[in-house]
Amino acid sequence: MSKIIDGKAISEQIKREIAAEVANMIDHGQNAPHLAAVIVGDDGASKTYVASKEKACHSVGMTSSVYRLPESTTEAELLQTVEFLNNDPEIDGYIIQLPLPKHINEEKVIAAIKPEKDVDGFTSVNAGRMQLGLPCYIPATPNGIMELIKRSEIETSGKNVVVIGRSNIVGTPMAILMSRKGIDSTVTLCHSRTKNLPEIVRHADIVVVAIGKQGFLTADMVKPGAVVIDVGIHRIEDPTSPKGYKIMGDADYDEVAKVASMITPVPGGVGPMTIVSLLQNTLKAAKGEVYPK
Ligand code: NAP
Repeated sequence: MSKIIDGKAISEQIKREIAAEVANMIDHGQNAPHLAAVIVGDDGASKTYVASKEKACHSVGMTSSVYRLPESTTEAELLQTVEFLNNDPEIDGYIIQLPLPKHINEEKVIAAIKPEKDVDGFTSVNAGRMQLGLPCYIPATPNGIMELIKRSEIETSGKNVVVIGRSNIVGTPMAILMSRKGIDSTVTLCHSRTKNLPEIVRHADIVVVAIGKQGFLTADMVKPGAVVIDVGIHRIEDPTSPKGYKIMGDADYDEVAKVASMITPVPGGVGPMTIVSLLQNTLKAAKGEVYPK
C-alpha cells in the first residue's frame, strides 16, 4: 500500500511558518499582509473557494477583503474594480475568482491585473517570468504541488514525470517547473490528443493527473512504485455521507494506492496546498520579494 502524502498536515505546517512571519512583521510595526478577492455572481463553488481563502488568511493573521459583485456587473465595472485594487496601497495582492460570467472577457480582465499584485500568477508577465526562471508568482496549485514534492523528499532528478492535462493554471506550469534546473525531471505533457496515453504513463516515476475526469487514472496505467499526484476535484453524490456527497479525484484512489509508492488523497492532498500557496504568494508580495517595493 502507498504512503499517503498528507497535504493537510503539510499545509498546516506551512501555515504555522507563515503565521510566525506575519506576527514578526506586525511586531516590527509593519501592516499584516492584505489579500483581496473579487467574486462576480453566485457560483456556489466559487463562493466556497473564496470563503476558504478568507478563512485561511485569518488563520495566519493576514488581512482579507472580499469584493462581492453581482452577476449583472459589466466588464467595464469589473475593470474599474481592478484599477482600484491595482492602485490601493493597502492591498498587497488580489485574485479574481474564476470563472467570470459569460458576458465578461476573462483574458481582458486578467491582462488588467498589475503583475506586482497578481498573487494567482495568471498574468502573461508572471507566466513569462516563470518560463524564464525569473522571480514571479507561480500559480497556486503547481506551487503547492512543488512544495508537497519538496517536503515529502520525493527524488526528482533524472526521473520521468508524466503530467496529464495542459491547462494554463495546472498542467502547463507543472511541466515547466518539473523540468527546471535543480528539479531536473524529464517531462512528458499529455492531453486529450495524446496517443497511447496509458503506455506513456506506465513509464512515469511521477504522475501528475489534472484533467477533470473522475477515476481516469487506473492502477494498470501506473508503474509499481511510482508517485501519484492527483489534482482532480469532483463532488460525487453519496447518500451515505452526512453531507450527501463525497469528494473524489482524477485517480481511482483505492486501486492506484495498491501500486503507487506514494499518493495524494482527495480530499486532503493537493487542495489544501493550493490555498496555502496563495498565502505564501501574498506574504512574498507584502515583503516585496518578487517585485521590490
Ligand atoms: P482544464 O482546464 O479543464 O484542463 C483539462 C486538461 O485535461 C486539458 O488539457 C485536456 O486536454 C486534458 N484532458 C481532458 N480529457 C483528457 C483525456 N481523456 N486524456 C488526456 N487529457 C485529457 O482543467 P484544470 O483547470 O487543469 O483542472 C483539472 C482538474 O483539477 C479539475 O478536476 C479541477 O477541478 C481540478 N483542480 C483542482 C485544484 C486543486 O486545488 N486541487 C486546482 C485547480 C484545478 P486538451 O487541452 O487537449 O483539451
